[in-house]
Amino acid sequence: MADDWSYSGEKGPSNWASFFADANGARQSPINIETDKVKSCDTPEFNFIGFEDDDVVDGSTMTLSNDGHSVKVSVTGEHYVTGGGLPGKFKVEQFHFHWGSDGSPGSEHAINDTRYDAELHIVSYDCERFSNFTEALGDCQGLAVLGIFIEVGDKTNPGYESLTTEFRNVQRKGQTFQLEKALVLRSLLPENVRHFYRYDGSLTTPPCTECVIWTVFDRPVQISVTQLERFRSLVATAVSEDEEGVNVESNYRPLQALGDRAVTASFSPVTANDDKKAPGKTCAIL
Ligand SMILES: [Zn+2]
Repeated sequence: MADDWSYSGEKGPSNWASFFADANGARQSPINIETDKVKSCDTPEFNFIGFEDDDVVDGSTMTLSNDGHSVKVSVTGEHYVTGGGLPGKFKVEQFHFHWGSDGSPGSEHAINDTRYDAELHIVSYDCERFSNFTEALGDCQGLAVLGIFIEVGDKTNPGYESLTTEFRNVQRKGQTFQLEKALVLRSLLPENVRHFYRYDGSLTTPPCTECVIWTVFDRPVQISVTQLERFRSLVATAVSEDEEGVNVESNYRPLQALGDRAVTASFSPVTANDDKKAPGKTCAIL
């Protein structure tokens, strides 16, 4: 059952809760972020370890896989997310993407009801309190996921080029491929990583476990239309299941109710055109 779900039809998002009880919970993701309702807080900057070219260590591997729902990159090695108001040190486990179909948006989160072309999720777990990813899933703050909006621009994004060109090796469901060289994770993030939103949420795919401290960066990254098309060229079925196959498209969960949750911002969204933080406000993050 664990893998028996989809983004449409009988096994689609509106029926996930019949099979995965957590999908009915009160802190589900993704959400629409309404910037006039967020609370601005003085938040420390992130400290990304093992994200730059210089500090990618030996023993780091990145393995691409097509699981029929998305393209995922499983990560080993010393890649950590700390700071940013997170309650500890989080080790990167994997990252994956959500996207739309031709001409329609595919991000999961929305800002003021606007969704972007795609969204990257960098998934990490609290490695100080838990010895592995699976253990951390059992805790309400076990995971930290970074959400990065992606939009189409005029230029090829060099940071995404060595990743998306390798999608040819995982065209069909079930295929895996180890990248020759670990990617520089920093180059997948927006230039400005000081402006972000924070809330308590869940995995956006079954079993929709409520274990995630979400960070959604305000500024998108841009990739070219050719790069976006490489996501849409991935096929959701194995050759043995279906010779032709259908593309992995519109692999996003619909927006979930915010309920009584608070969304905080590391900046003042109203004056987002400058780099000023909200003056003098400090609030406990999570
Ligand atoms: Zn995701």
